[in-house]
Formats: sequence, structure tokens, C-alpha cells
Amino acid sequence: METARPQAKLCPDCGRDVPVDPRFVTWCAACGWNVDPGAPQAPEGRLEALRRQLARRHGEQLYAEGVDGRPLKDASSVLARALALLVHAVTLGLAVAGVVILVGGIGTFSGWALGAVLLGIAFVLRPRLGSLPDSGEEPVLYRADAPSLFGLIDEVAAVVGTRGVDAVVVGAEANAAVSTYGIRRRRVLWLGLGLWTVLTPRQRVALLGHELGHYANGDTRHGTIVHNALRSLSLWVYFLSPEPHPTMAERLANYLMAVPRWAVYGVLVLLDQLTLRATQRAEYLADEAAARAGSTEAAVELMDRILLTDSVALELRRESVAAQTKGRASASRDEAERGLWDRLAERIGAIPEREYERLRRAAALRGHAVDSTHPPTHLRRGRLAEAAAPHPAAVRPTEDSTAAIEAELAGARSRVARRVIRDYAG
Ligand SMILES: [Zn+2]
Ligand SMILES: [Zn+2]
Repeated sequence: METARPQAKLCPDCGRDVPVDPRFVTWCAACGWNVDPGAPQAPEGRLEALRRQLARRHGEQLYAEGVDGRPLKDASSVLARALALLVHAVTLGLAVAGVVILVGGIGTFSGWALGAVLLGIAFVLRPRLGSLPDSGEEPVLYRADAPSLFGLIDEVAAVVGTRGVDAVVVGAEANAAVSTYGIRRRRVLWLGLGLWTVLTPRQRVALLGHELGHYANGDTRHGTIVHNALRSLSLWVYFLSPEPHPTMAERLANYLMAVPRWAVYGVLVLLDQLTLRATQRAEYLADEAAARAGSTEAAVELMDRILLTDSVALELRRESVAAQTKGRASASRDEAERGLWDRLAERIGAIPEREYERLRRAAALRGHAVDSTHPPTHLRRGRLAEAAAPHPAAVRPTEDSTAAIEAELAGARSRVARRVIRDYAG
């Protein structure tokens, strides 16, 4: 009977010694044996799989060509924006026509009906300006709630050439994002504690640099215009879809509508394609902003942390399952919620370099990307790491400011932890 766990074994492929750590996958650095034993993530549907494939190709192309120059000035971005504005012009045209017909045909039923229909369509197609969550599930912080956090954001914003944000929404995911909301185009940072918690202070600066870089490069404005145009086009495709059980007359209408339907669909696919390439480019440029703010080294480290997205999600789920199987005693729930983020940071912090190396290789094999809007993570990392002139850190948070920010996030941390423990087991 074997009692002691072996600390090394021989690689079945090349026969070299490979270290064994029961917490992680055993693999061979020499020949690559067992680098990626997990089944590849199942793509969400055929269309998403196709987009990911194209995204990977754009990401590789841009990596090879090199990305520099002014953001959003390349042909695909300019064309995407022109196409999107054209789509919105059609919506505006419908609204104007609706008003003209309403006013011109005053008193006639047909004038009233046609005008109302045109206005109704324009209303449905109108561009939407985002909004903040109001469910209370996701805590929203304003400047007065978290002066140190907003101060750090301002500092990073100044480095990357933009202004700070108006609100921070705190979530659980191992992710972050920026967008705008309301008619005044206020700015919101979506901050996932699953990522924020496992980052060192300088990696956090790099993360903020990346996100604020999207504002500096005009990506959010561009994104709003294009996203709304894509939405409008999808609605057009829906309006023009054939009746499933047509009568004779409807069958004729279906035939007549096939041409505009395919034309609209073509524009939709074209716009999506142009956008894919433009967003990949925007990500590389935002990584550049990350390096300027937090240093090239910190931005490279951030890329390694992004490879842990699945591990973080798994940890949070495990915490939730453990707390729920312990029974309904509120004491054990409280306990689970209180220490959640610290335990997560500790577990992730204990991951050895050898495991990161495996994750990097597995990511390269899979073409890992956060989603189809991002280039593969190993290419983003490579671009940063191979920079001819690495950036020093422009923003260096002090220990005091780091502690103050953590204290400001304490309330949000426990509210989000409660939701994780309650929901993530399902
Ligand atoms: Zn081997
Ligand atoms: Zn980004």
C-alpha cells in the first residue's frame, strides 16, 4: 500500500520528471503533455462560435500587423460608424415623415393612421441610452460614498487622457467594464469583485487604465452608436420576417419582403463584422493605456489574472454550495459571507507560477478570449510583454489609499457576498 503521496512522476509522453501538486493539474513543461485536460468551453451557439473564430482571426491579424496610430481612425471603424449613422438616419427619417404626414393629413383617417404607424416604428427603433441598475442587488457608489476610490480613478484618468467616472457599480464577476448612461452621457464603471479582489494595487491601476482607456479612445461613444444600430437592424429583420402560416395574400407579401429582408440582414452582418475588428483594435489600445497607468509589468500581470476567470467563478460557486450544504443556520451563512472575498484572494494568491504557465499555454491552445469582443488573452499579453520600451508606473497607490479604498468598498463587499452565497450554488 502506498501511503505517501508522490511528489513527482514521470511524463508518460517524454519520460521526464514532472512535479505533482494535488491542488493543480499535473502537466509536462518539456513536451506539453496534459497542458489542457479540461474539455474546451462549449461555445454558446453556432453564431457565437463563428464570431469567436472571426474575433480570433482579427486578433491574430492585428497582433501581426501591429496596432498604433489614432484609435478609431482605421477604415473598418470609420465605415462601421458611417453605416451605423445611416441606420439612425433612417429612424429619424421615419419620425420626421410621421410628423409631416400627421400634420399634412390632419382630419383624414388615413393620414392619421399612417403618421401614427411611422412614429410608432421610429419610437421602437430609437437609440437607447444605458441606465444604472436600480434593483438594489448591485450596489452603486457615487463620489461621496467612496472618495478614495474615485480619487484613484481620477488620477488614472488624467494619465490616460480623460476624466473619471460618475458612478461605480459593484458586482461579483471576475470582470470590469465601462459604459455611459442617461441623456447627459454620464460615465459608469462596472467593477467585479471577483477580479478586483484578486489583484494587487498596481494591477488594479492597470485595470482602471484599461477601462478608462476605452473612454479616452472614444470606444464607449462609438459603442453606443454601433450597438444601437445593430439593435435597430435586428428589429428590422424581425419586422420583415415572413408570416409562419401565410394566407395567399400574405404569401405574396412574404415574397415582396424577401429582398428588403436580405438587404437589411446583409447590412447587419457587415456592421457586425466591421465592429468585431474595430473592437479588437480598441482592446489592444486600451491595454496600452493600462501599461501607461500601472506599468507594462502590471499590465502583463493583469493578463495572467484574466486567465483565472473560470477559477474565480468556480471558487465562488464552491463557497455558495458549501455554505448551503452546511444548513440554513444563519450563523454559518454570516460566516461564509464575511470571509468570502478574503478567502478568494488567499486561494488565488496561492496559485504558483507553474500553474500560470500552464494556463497561458492552455489559453494559447484554445485561443482563449474573454468574449468575442476581445483578442485572445495570450496575444494581448504578448503585445504588452514584447513592447520595445516598457512603461514605468505613472500612478502608484500608497498603502493608506489602498486601505481607504478597501474600507469604502466594505459595504458593497458584504452585499455582493450575500448574493453570491445565496445564488451561485444553483
Ligand atoms: Zn513530457
Ligand atoms: Zn476592454
